[in-house]
Amino acid sequence: MTPVIELTEIERTFDADPPVRALKNVRLRVEKGEYLSIVGPSGSGKSTLLTTLGLLDRPDKGSYRLDGIETTELDDARRTALRGNRIGFVFQAFHLLAHRSAVDNVGLAELYQKGERRSRTQRAEAALQRVGLGHRTLFRPDRLSGGERQRVAIARALLGEPSLLLCDEPTGNLDKANTNAVLDLFDELRAQGVTLVVITHDEEVSMRADRRVRIDDGVLSDGSTSFQGSVLR
Ligand code: ADP
Ligand code: MG
Repeated sequence: MTPVIELTEIERTFDADPPVRALKNVRLRVEKGEYLSIVGPSGSGKSTLLTTLGLLDRPDKGSYRLDGIETTELDDARRTALRGNRIGFVFQAFHLLAHRSAVDNVGLAELYQKGERRSRTQRAEAALQRVGLGHRTLFRPDRLSGGERQRVAIARALLGEPSLLLCDEPTGNLDKANTNAVLDLFDELRAQGVTLVVITHDEEVSMRADRRVRIDDGVLSDGSTSFQGSVLR
């Protein structure tokens, strides 16, 4: 089967004095339905890797195939379309509109796409049910806990049935209980076949994934010293 992500010899160097080689010869393969975490300290290249995987930044060298499609040669419009169709983003800050209900926040993800308003609302409600918030559809963010807000953001990311759910420090703003609720949800999504990549500096969060890779100073390696059975495929 075609992997969701296939990075081959990816290089990214930032112009600075001296230049910063933020990604060094990075190879990574993520299969459909995998739940992978990428863990590394501050400054190791996590954000650069995330923006690369999210088609928000272009590598200087190497190949990135998303669902088998070579992305590095595509023009910006095609990359934007691919991103919109295939990648759902979840960030540390939930980025919800304060004066909108949960269901509006989820449905607004598709405001600029074609489609009937009513079907959008129905699908937004279904997405909220999927993250366990079917009873909160009309709540505004200020009446939701941090964990519930992040689940709304996850529902929004899932609305378009993306191939990949790409999460950047998804529990960074959450206390322990809410962190666990979001991690439990990731387990459920994984059981539903969602492909999950979670980027984090939190070792405990990273341990919940099926497979763990580590990034240090731009170099990706498997985390097998602390994670039994992990292989960088
Ligand atoms: P992390 O997210 O793990 O903290 P980053 O990917 O943000 O790491 O950064 C990796 C390295 O690249 C760091 O040394 C950082 O200073 C450098 N870097 C990131 N973005 C830029 C940029 N736009 N210009 C110059 N250097 C950058
Ligand atoms: Mg970062």
